[in-house]
Amino acid sequence: MIQSINPFTGEILKEFDPFDELQIEAALAKSEAAFRKWKNSDFSDRKKLMKSAAQELRKNRDDYALLLTQEMGKVIKESQAEIEKCAWVCDYYADNAENFLKSKSIELPDGAAAKVIYQPLGAILAVMPWNFPFWQVFRFAAPTLMAGNTGLLKHASNVPQAALAIQKVFERAGFPEGVFQTLLIDSKATNKIIADPRIKAVTLTGSEKAGSAVASTAGKHIKKSLLELGGSDPFIVMADADVKKAAQTAAKARMINFGQSCIAAKRFIVEESVFEEFVEVFKQEIQSMKFGDPENPNSDFACMAREDLAFELYEQVEKSVKAGAKILLGGKKPEKGKALFEPTILTDIPKDAPVYSEELFGPVASIFKVKNETEAIALANDSEFGLGGSLWSQDLQKAEKLAAEIETGAVFINSLVASNPHLPFGGIKKSGYGRELSQEGILEFVNIKTVYLG
Ligand code: NAP
Repeated sequence: MIQSINPFTGEILKEFDPFDELQIEAALAKSEAAFRKWKNSDFSDRKKLMKSAAQELRKNRDDYALLLTQEMGKVIKESQAEIEKCAWVCDYYADNAENFLKSKSIELPDGAAAKVIYQPLGAILAVMPWNFPFWQVFRFAAPTLMAGNTGLLKHASNVPQAALAIQKVFERAGFPEGVFQTLLIDSKATNKIIADPRIKAVTLTGSEKAGSAVASTAGKHIKKSLLELGGSDPFIVMADADVKKAAQTAAKARMINFGQSCIAAKRFIVEESVFEEFVEVFKQEIQSMKFGDPENPNSDFACMAREDLAFELYEQVEKSVKAGAKILLGGKKPEKGKALFEPTILTDIPKDAPVYSEELFGPVASIFKVKNETEAIALANDSEFGLGGSLWSQDLQKAEKLAAEIETGAVFINSLVASNPHLPFGGIKKSGYGRELSQEGILEFVNIKTVYLG
């Protein structure tokens, strides 16, 4: 049984039976049949439909947002912003896909000519996480469908209502039947589906463990995979930074989505001469954030997406404190039966503490003091992850030079890390491979075909 539970109240909202084999087979057949027509559709028709999906999202923003808030506990203002961002990515690819996929002519030195054309692959499977239940899916679906592929979604088991609502957005927008479908299935069925010849590629956003499992199956069947995995993004504050602004932004960067974001800043690395100032403002900012019912528009944070996630996070904190880390704020054990968690700040973190090396997927900040920029970069890179990073300095030339030394898929100077349809998004190291968004994103699931004109 797949359950939709409100993590703030504990109430079971709805229950769904997972798809049986017949339903899965019907969805795969439908996806393949839809692809045969969809791949030949005009860009102008796809554009109209994708624009209509954006409109549908904007028109019913509040209903979709409430669903996210009730199903995974994010505060309502963040849910609303998430729906608007989904409309933005739909518009972005509606407007740019044709140009991104325009064929290229190449003249060869021997006088011959060739063309490079971009063709869709077929049905693409997306395995998605619960943290941004709409955004993660739309940033996959908008480019994938605009390129002429069909999409199948296996969403995280705790957000079945969001998963079904996304299919509804595309249906209401008028997309042909089968172009986008949601499958209510578990991980075991997912790996079986990846093996099916009708699935041409798979994308997964989630943990390292899930990424490794899905990519192994895809590799076994020689299928392309794209992985957007965890992160432990550094937020580096140099002595010449606007420290107050950096600390205020740092607090937001840690608390977005109650800390449950892959690109949330997780390790704050601060030069010693500005350490005290940074910590003071950072702590004040966190303390000024309002806890409350996620449906209340004034709440800044509410709860974790599931009770077990709160206890897992606490275990990481507890073990780190045992290893010698100091608690500057919070650190209390969560109450049983609730998904609440007290925002927590840790300092004096030894290398063998879990919070030094593991991802903290919740409202826990680790602050490190360093002597200089060399130490800062070394510490930033002392991580298995390589998703994003934020660097604060008023010397932009120096900042750009240091940005090149940070081992991540993105560095934001004097700003928090945020995804944006115009910019490539993705990681290196154990944060995954491949890129989403921008032109790079739409090129992931197409056949880049050479046509030689002899
Ligand atoms: P998760 O447990 O890995 O789940 C992600 C998805 O993978 C879910 O749909 C899950 O299904 C499925 N899954 C889990 N194990 C699987 C397996 N063995 N085979 C096939 N599918 C499997 O991750 P999460 O807890 O939902 O999300 C948190 C993680 O995602 C964090 O590490 C976070 O940093 C990462 N993340 C990365 C990005 C990025 O863009 N790089 C963005 C957001 C989140 P079930 O729910 O049914 O288990």
